[in-house]
Amino acid sequence: MPRSVQPQPLQPSAPYKAFDARQAAPAYEVRTLGCQMNAHDSERITGLLETAGYVPAVGREPDLVVFNTCAVRENADNKLYGQLGQLAPVKRRNDRLQIAVGGCLAQKDRATIVEKAPWVDVVFGTHNIGSLPVLLQRARHNEQAQVEILESLETFPSALPTKREQAYAGWVSISVGCNNTCTFCIVPQLRGKEKDRRPGDILAEVQALVDSGAVEVTLLGQNVNSYGVEFGDRGAFAKLLRACGEIDGLERVRFTSPHPAAFTDDVIDAMVETPNVMPQLHMPLQSGSDRILKNMRRSYRSKKFLGILERVRASIPGAAITTDIIVGFPGETEQDFQDTLDVVAASEFSSAFTFQYSVRPGTPAAEMTDQVPAAVVQERFERLTALQDEISARLNRELVGSRAEVLVSAQSGRKAQSTHRLSGRGRDQRLVHFSVPEGAPQPRPGDVVSVPVTSAAAYHLLADPRDVSEYELRRTRGGDAWEAAQAESCAAPSSSGAPGTVGLGMPSLRRP
Ligand code: SF4
Repeated sequence: MPRSVQPQPLQPSAPYKAFDARQAAPAYEVRTLGCQMNAHDSERITGLLETAGYVPAVGREPDLVVFNTCAVRENADNKLYGQLGQLAPVKRRNDRLQIAVGGCLAQKDRATIVEKAPWVDVVFGTHNIGSLPVLLQRARHNEQAQVEILESLETFPSALPTKREQAYAGWVSISVGCNNTCTFCIVPQLRGKEKDRRPGDILAEVQALVDSGAVEVTLLGQNVNSYGVEFGDRGAFAKLLRACGEIDGLERVRFTSPHPAAFTDDVIDAMVETPNVMPQLHMPLQSGSDRILKNMRRSYRSKKFLGILERVRASIPGAAITTDIIVGFPGETEQDFQDTLDVVAASEFSSAFTFQYSVRPGTPAAEMTDQVPAAVVQERFERLTALQDEISARLNRELVGSRAEVLVSAQSGRKAQSTHRLSGRGRDQRLVHFSVPEGAPQPRPGDVVSVPVTSAAAYHLLADPRDVSEYELRRTRGGDAWEAAQAESCAAPSSSGAPGTVGLGMPSLRRP
């Protein structure tokens, strides 16, 4: 397997020492930037580190900081080098500290990282997460930075030990990489061609998660609808959903992300006929202009996209559909943008991740000469978010008076301290902040409550039952698992500050 191993001289201000067995176990912190794939990779990184004897840095300075980076988000490199710069003086005074950089930006920039930040000890890529503990050891032993990037995957990362962020819900990768070539995206270059995991391995992992208390599972892939093409079964994703429906105790199945070009009706049928697949779909639009979609090298057109939504809604009434949209792709005219607004108005998304296009070096779109001026992009972005917010708020208001079945989350909303509301996700993945009426039992994260929706805004629903009669609590195995995990971690405070969450040093993800 081609491999790039480029040891770089490390210039620590003090010599390294091997860990002394009499010292406390080394403490780690993982800082995650980017998408759910990265967050799931961070669970593997923490699992690996704990298997290697590290412990979470709770209430003490870390001996190891791992950055799991993203190359897709704007200014990702500036953010990384900014954070690395802040660690340089810490490293000068603490010779135990090691710093590792992994993820997409590491895969892309490789040895440049140790050239720019020579106090970094290890750079590892997206295909060799499993090598991290050995690379750390080698960096300490050789007193030299270790840069190791593999060009393709050797072991499917799900085979690695994983420490789940939450006991009651988990992500399961079904594939990694992507065979598409969207012109704005760096993922295929960094994560490689799509590699599909065998269905038996996926289902075994789902079953193991459920056995350990999870009640919700999200199947993850860059393009879940092309799952199975590698092993010659185009219907494999729908079959996988149906097989998840057979797993006792699995209450909620979600998946992300499908691709409109590859989305087929057998998936809709499987969603309808599998009761634990949730009535929710994330369907990335990117642009409503057919001309721009062509330039993005996205092979569907707006008519096909709207047709998918129509069929999903006809089969799954009340399905919440979310999306991703890029504003200001090179060459986008006012008419192209108007086409996007028209498709957004017709689509009635429950919410949207909206992005302002910015150049990603290494992508074909970065070479396009007709970049849209930033001020124009900003103005269009504001018009788009205003339209989407109006739609989201209207759709949410239509739910006032209905009941929401909420899987209680360990994370609370920003205002939780003053409102005393807890938070969670409805079956359709909407964010619900709810209050527990006086005299009613408190739910644990992982339990399910049924509450009346009493008001709504663009990004959330509020549910304030008037009294106990309007509130139902169902204690679940997920809540039991959360409680057991808390007892094990001695209720260590989380990085997010949320009461009772298990801290992995990971930022929580912004979800639609
Ligand atoms: S489908 Fe397109 S946007 Fe998504 S990961 Fe593949 S290349 Fe990137």
